[in-house]
Amino acid sequence: MTDAGGSTSWQKRLLRRKRLHVLGLTIEEYDKYLATPHWQEFRKRVFAQQRERLGRNCCERCPKSAEETKLHVHHLTYERLGNENLEDVQIICGECHDKEHGRDAANRSRHYRPGYFD
Ligand SMILES: [Zn+2]
Ligand SMILES: [Zn+2]
Repeated sequence: MTDAGGSTSWQKRLLRRKRLHVLGLTIEEYDKYLATPHWQEFRKRVFAQQRERLGRNCCERCPKSAEETKLHVHHLTYERLGNENLEDVQIICGECHDKEHGRDAANRSRHYRPGYFD
């Protein structure tokens, strides 16, 4: 069973369409990517690594902990999408994530759902 090997079509399409994501456009493939075993495993590693480093899971930009809020894994870069390094992502809370992507509650893009990991 190999999920991470090779350059799959979804990966190519994602790389091509990453600019659309930055512009806030819908990317169904991105949604699919976030549902892959590869991404789910990677997320687990990101959270595990932070627990090792800080002794808990919390937002990297504000003091909120996993107990207080839902934490998101935000991509600092999409360069290695599908083959991310731990440094390519950052754990942030929903509020900081909204700020990062320029969306607020009053002006939430219909393309994004609450709890969306990106
Ligand atoms: Zn935060
Ligand atoms: Zn993000």
